[in-house]
Amino acid sequence: MNVFPFQAALSASPLPAPLLRAHDVSIDYASGAGTVRATHEVSFDVYEGDRFVLLGPSGCGKSTLLKAIGGFVQPNSGGLLLRGRRILKPGPDRIVVFQEFDQLPPWKTVRQNVMFPLLANGVKRKEAETRALHWLDKVGLARFADAYPHTLSGGMKARVAIARALAMQPDILLMDEPFAALDALTRRRMQEELQALWEEVGFTMLFVTHSIEEALVVGNRILLLSPHPGRVRAEINSHQFSLASSGSEDFQAAAQRIHRLLFGDEPPSAPAGLPQAPAAVAVHA
Ligand code: ADP
Ligand code: MG
Repeated sequence: MNVFPFQAALSASPLPAPLLRAHDVSIDYASGAGTVRATHEVSFDVYEGDRFVLLGPSGCGKSTLLKAIGGFVQPNSGGLLLRGRRILKPGPDRIVVFQEFDQLPPWKTVRQNVMFPLLANGVKRKEAETRALHWLDKVGLARFADAYPHTLSGGMKARVAIARALAMQPDILLMDEPFAALDALTRRRMQEELQALWEEVGFTMLFVTHSIEEALVVGNRILLLSPHPGRVRAEINSHQFSLASSGSEDFQAAAQRIHRLLFGDEPPSAPAGLPQAPAAVAVHA
């Protein structure tokens, strides 16, 4: 049986083959007496160089999808393909950055933290060190190579986590609400820095968030998901938006449109007296 009939159709089309393809992915968790369906027949394609965002309220299966792409969870039906090959287990071609930056072992310096996955994947020590320092420089942390994680701010830990992931040169960088624990100003700065890094380096990323504003700022394409079970509501293009445009009418209109697509109603209006501030529209279940 041809499990992926779309492949044949795709080869005849002028579109490039997607880097990552999710095809009718359904994932269930065993829970007490029965099962919980976390995602239901979710399909999307991520192309090389995309900043693809999964956006939706808590419980819509964003983390589950990311874990499945990471190879930590297997779909119950449907399939996930990276460069046309089915994802069966974790691999260095897909690196995940989580929200919890305490994923950095505290007994290793910043440099050792970035080198660690490289060494674990067979990169020679000298090469690992060169790559670590190169990526720490890219995220503006060259001076902190010998610092320990507990001496760093939340934003700096986030930069180390990003440097550590990119040093592995993955096919796709997977980010699960990476800035959610940061204060608002640091979060904006990290969004800006991520964008600048993407422009400089040109990696592919899949970014999970429940913030409409963050999705518009970070993504070039956004998949809207609704919960219980997690389903696709819509996919929209957002390449025209950035932090610089976040106060604009177009940005506000896009945020409101997303809100309507997710919830079928109007979002709360922007706070009075702050006409330039983007509407702080987070998606709440
Ligand atoms: P999100 O990241 O969008 O908040 P999750 O992927 O974490 O969503 O969860 C999707 C659904 O799956 C939720 O209903 C959640 O309760 C359920 N779920 C997630 N992980 C587990 C698990 N390990 N066991 C049972 N149910 C789970
Ligand atoms: Mg989650």
